[in-house]
Amino acid sequence: MTTLGLDFPVFEPGWVWLVGAGPGDPGLLTLHAVNAMQQADIVVYDALVDDRILNLLRSDAKRVYAGKRGGRPSSKQTDISLQLVDYAKQGLRVLRLKGGDPFVFGRGGEEGLTLVEHNVPFRVVPGITAGIAGAAYAGIPTTHRDCNSSVTFVTGHGSSGEMPDNINWAALAKGAPVLVLYMAMKHLRRISSELMANGRSGDEPLAVINQATTPNQGILISTLANAADDVEKAGVEPPAVCILGKVVDLRDRLNWLSPQDDVKAVRHVPFEQVLDLITMPVDANVSKS
Ligand code: SAH
Repeated sequence: MTTLGLDFPVFEPGWVWLVGAGPGDPGLLTLHAVNAMQQADIVVYDALVDDRILNLLRSDAKRVYAGKRGGRPSSKQTDISLQLVDYAKQGLRVLRLKGGDPFVFGRGGEEGLTLVEHNVPFRVVPGITAGIAGAAYAGIPTTHRDCNSSVTFVTGHGSSGEMPDNINWAALAKGAPVLVLYMAMKHLRRISSELMANGRSGDEPLAVINQATTPNQGILISTLANAADDVEKAGVEPPAVCILGKVVDLRDRLNWLSPQDDVKAVRHVPFEQVLDLITMPVDANVSKS
């Protein structure tokens, strides 16, 4: 076998790993995430974790759904955190699998704090966050030298489901050339109004990417002034991220999934084949000349 010189951490019993599963496309998982999935005894996962990703779990791993979508009852955040503590105290290897990155609007911080409080050892595995990946799959760089030297992540709702009341709209409108909005579908009309009332041009391009990086990815290009109407007309459903700013125009030239924006239209090879390439005997891996 080839020796790649890569070692991965052993998942010790009694530990919790807070792991980001990325935005949907299994290819965007990290190797640490795959390593975690191969060792975990139990996985507590969210609604936004794709089924194709759950297929990478050890087949005898216990699966616990802790999501809030699909008509199933929601689990209270404190309950989830305490559940993690409980499983860890039973000596299990507990994988807490979250969509995107666990520390980006993912409540990973809250869960981590509960683990600290209960002296449960844990590890955090970052994931690719939906805002950045969704933009990239739409051919939109979140930063581009000619457009912006900063980018701001904003959430469109707080824990109550209402618009967060601690957003300084004036500062955001003036100081953030590119905004990446999470959970913004419900209050998009109000968000747009606040930004325009605080000086943002209604003509500014705004992209809405839903189910980003999955076979059902959809992209709507609009403007700040028209986005809420266009989203309504097109019936765009969450989960979706919005990108506001000049960078959206780069999609005209950088849309690498064009013309259909269709992840499915790309030819694929089975993952097993990719693994074979990594693990095949050394001499077979050397190209024949
Ligand atoms: N921790 C996650 C965010 C969780 S909050 C991350 O880092 O990506 C949930 C919000 O994330 C959704 O309302 C939506 O705005 C965004 N989101 C998550 N997955 C998405 C996807 N595949 N496509 C578009 N938006 C997504």
